[in-house]
Amino acid sequence: MLTVTGALKIVVDATTETEGDLIIVDGRVVAAGAGVGAWVGARAGGTAGASAGGTAGASAGGTAGASAGGTAESLDASGCVVTPGLVNAHHHLLQSAFRTLPGTRGVPMAEWLGVMASAYSARGVDPELVWLAARVGMAEALLSGVTTVADHHLTWPAGADSVEFARAAAEAATSLGGRLAFVRGAAKDDPETAADSAAEIIGALLPAGARGVTADGMLQIAVGPAGVHSDPEATFRLMGEVATTYGVRRRTQANEQVDVVIALERYGRRPLDLLDEWGWLAPDVTVAHLCDVTDAEITRLASAGVTATHAPGCDLPMGWGIAPAGRLIDAGITVGLGTSGGGSNDAGHLLADARLAMQVSPLAGRGLTAREAISMATEGSALGLGRAELGHLREGAAADLCVWDVSGVADAGVANPVAGLLWASPGRRPRHVVVRGRVVVRDYQLVRAQEGVIVAELGARLSAGHAG
Ligand SMILES: [Zn+2]
Repeated sequence: MLTVTGALKIVVDATTETEGDLIIVDGRVVAAGAGVGAWVGARAGGTAGASAGGTAGASAGGTAGASAGGTAESLDASGCVVTPGLVNAHHHLLQSAFRTLPGTRGVPMAEWLGVMASAYSARGVDPELVWLAARVGMAEALLSGVTTVADHHLTWPAGADSVEFARAAAEAATSLGGRLAFVRGAAKDDPETAADSAAEIIGALLPAGARGVTADGMLQIAVGPAGVHSDPEATFRLMGEVATTYGVRRRTQANEQVDVVIALERYGRRPLDLLDEWGWLAPDVTVAHLCDVTDAEITRLASAGVTATHAPGCDLPMGWGIAPAGRLIDAGITVGLGTSGGGSNDAGHLLADARLAMQVSPLAGRGLTAREAISMATEGSALGLGRAELGHLREGAAADLCVWDVSGVADAGVANPVAGLLWASPGRRPRHVVVRGRVVVRDYQLVRAQEGVIVAELGARLSAGHAG
């Protein structure tokens, strides 16, 4: 059992806030705020011997004795706002090893792709580099409050053992205690090879019959062509078949300006027309970017039940424009938030991008509120992954949460500490982070690894260059 004590505010979900304590048992939220007293009372009265009074005894900070259900631990949240763990719905973790590359800023996408491809082949993308980059990306994620990362992996050199790539990313996440949704992507890959590889990854990394997610929820597999600008109908069709067969989610990218331009050139159609025809406008599909969408297309996405991922931290520097997040939400579309990868957005700091999304939103329609931006970065992203247990702190939720200290000068004078999470103190990091009821960041430090070692290991690989 873990008790988070004395929070100034607990953001339960998009519409509910409470305060005080939050209780976690077996990796799930069992009570928060006003519900805690009733829960403790029911337990003390109803289940004799099962740690009666356990929560009261565990409020001193640090580990406080054992209860019948295991160790009782508490986390001090006084002066802090507690939120659900953030869910980064769109990342490319490999690119964490390729940030701020010369030639990747202020250039057209075709040029950007060429620079990134040469950097990949100069370094040699192999399971070791996938592991090192994913360790960096996941460590950065946890230290900035992101408890689940969707890693859209698009780089598959000829002859690559794709199962080993996926395993490397999964083990990197597990080693630090974060949740990973590994998306077997494709970007100009041979359609059959990509689909077969997706099926192999699912077979190797998930237990039989898992329907996309392990029983503990720590690893999810999904499939996702990069977009109609890079992949043909066959890739969408074959990956769609894999998704149907194994019950995994589908993700793709659409309506970056370049995607619209290429679709018009190549097919004389807009990307969403193609996705529709190819069976990819459906409730199990999440589409990232959506910068250049018409009102009619927004209506079409809404009626198809497609979810969206907003990625302003990538879209703005790439010059793709600002997705009309407010209009998407108002049309009834579930909108999540992603950072995209280090090749276009050098920070995997999702709260910073929630702030950016909020700040730029008035330029693309109505402004987003801080609560809406937080909701996009939590439950919006989680629903796009098909993960109803993530992204909120209602009773029964997976116990992924962040404890944000708002007692310093950067938050002084703030009228609303929840809104202040975004408006004030850019780049803030959480004091503590919990995933599945386990503390993975304590007092701004990773619990399971040393940040410096992770940095040094990637640095050594990058300075050693590529032997083969
Ligand atoms: Zn992207």
